[in-house]
Amino acid sequence: MVLRVDSLSHRYPNGTTALADVSLTVRAGERVAVVGPNGAGKSTLARHLIGIARPTSGTVTVDGRDAAGLEIAELARSVGFVFQNPDDQLHAATVAKEVGFGPRNLGFPADRRTALTQWALQVTGLTGEANSHPRHLSFGERKRVAFASVLAMDTPIIVLDEPTTGQDHRSVVLLEELVTDLHERGKTILAITHDTDFCAESFDRVVVLSEGRVRWDGPVERWLEGD
Ligand code: ADP
Ligand code: ADP
Repeated sequence: MVLRVDSLSHRYPNGTTALADVSLTVRAGERVAVVGPNGAGKSTLARHLIGIARPTSGTVTVDGRDAAGLEIAELARSVGFVFQNPDDQLHAATVAKEVGFGPRNLGFPADRRTALTQWALQVTGLTGEANSHPRHLSFGERKRVAFASVLAMDTPIIVLDEPTTGQDHRSVVLLEELVTDLHERGKTILAITHDTDFCAESFDRVVVLSEGRVRWDGPVERWLEGD
């Protein structure tokens, strides 16, 4: 049980209840898509998984450790998070520096840093852009830079917020292959998405959230059949 969400509720200071009694367990190596309409609570749930939100009640544990009780930097060794908007996480002057920042910050030795950075650039289709300024890239490319930055940190758990938004068809295929590759490497992947084809292609399990509650949770095949 890598991720365990137990009776999680989240009420914002203005009184909005974004999550109401959500329970969810994710096992190591699972590929879980979280779907649901706007306002369902998906992003709020993701914020709890990376320890940047505090439960109103309930708990979130990552590898048996309470996410709310961990330093964010400590949790970041276990859970990599790719923001919906890449501009929330890109800071460096070149793509290679951006992708190299995480493994450097984690104190990885130089050879591991280099190998991870080059692998991350390659699997996101960005090797040719290593020396570009992220600002000069398209939105879809900047999202892939954000993804590559997280990959380079080599976390066992990867959480993605709407990874296919703004990607052309070729890049979506690349992302599908990448999720499969990460799965084969034993990573646990949880993606917030509204992209049914992406769910069908790359995920095993679908969790449907609406109005802050889990409405459905099961195998992707049954979800596609409209169960
Ligand atoms: P989703 O990602 O599924 O669109 P969110 O987690 O962003 O859902 O939002 C869930 C609910 O919480 C929505 O009603 C939204 O308007 C509300 N909400 C989100 N962020 C805040 C905030 N900072 N303050 C108040 N309400 C918020
Ligand atoms: P350093 O080379 O000192 O580690 P940099 O910030 O220059 O620091 O690079 C960060 C990472 O990106 C390093 O692991 C480096 O090997 C890798 N890197 C730099 N330039 C490229 C490039 N053009 N293509 C692929 N990887 C690169």
